[in-house]
Amino acid sequence: VGQKILVVEDNELNLKLFCDLLRAHGFAAEPVRDGREAVGRARAFEPDLVVMDIQMPHISGLELIEQLKADPELRRVPIMAVTAYAAKGDEERIREAGAEGYVSKPISVVRFVEAVRALLAAPRPPEEEAPREEGEVVRVTRRFAAPAEQVFDTWLDAETVGEWLFRTPDGVLVRCAVDPVVGGRYEIVERRGEEEVLHTGTYEAIERPESLAFTLAVPLYADGEERVAIAIQPEDEGCTLTLTQTRAADAPVGAEQIAQGWSHLLDALAARLETPGDQP
Ligand code: MN
Repeated sequence: VGQKILVVEDNELNLKLFCDLLRAHGFAAEPVRDGREAVGRARAFEPDLVVMDIQMPHISGLELIEQLKADPELRRVPIMAVTAYAAKGDEERIREAGAEGYVSKPISVVRFVEAVRALLAAPRPPEEEAPREEGEVVRVTRRFAAPAEQVFDTWLDAETVGEWLFRTPDGVLVRCAVDPVVGGRYEIVERRGEEEVLHTGTYEAIERPESLAFTLAVPLYADGEERVAIAIQPEDEGCTLTLTQTRAADAPVGAEQIAQGWSHLLDALAARLETPGDQP
């Protein structure tokens, strides 16, 4: 079956002429005699193009073009208007209503088919973007006196990472498991009062010493999974770490609170690295 073309035309002879002509050129033509049915029929038929008569009883083609262009599902379907009179300004009004093409009656068969082909080949307007599900991005930067490699390694060291990562002042570390490979998981459980809080996720990138990325879920507090990316820039002395977290739309805490939390954790990491004899 060829491309589908919905033909809206109240005049029986013209309707048959357009449909026969389109079918003879390999298109699947669907006739609509009553303009009041046009929008519903277009939704059902899902045409690649609409041929639209302008002069019709009950509802004008101009009005229908506007309705089709206001419909989120149909607005990308090109419309070729066909009109009997071509008074000055008609074409302009038709294009303003949203029609991409225009031919005047009496139609030239060659010109009609050429116009149909040109409209079908023309690029479509972009689909409307789906609303972004991600919330804002939180970014925290901190300088370290320790070299990049050493800072990087602390994030993946199963022996020590649980002592600072996701720790709270009064929390007690219950369990820390790290599988430091791409696709591997980590689990850090801290007891906070009566609650055991699990922080878990999967490593998505491990490129020592510049780049580390992992997902982060805290099932006790939120359903979603967030994404943390760490970039470590080596410098002559020490390094600079930039942490970026995409905050989920349903995150239980605000961006400022997340940034503050990470700042405290990075302070704790720096303190660890600066304590002689207590380095990973
Ligand atoms: Mn008509």
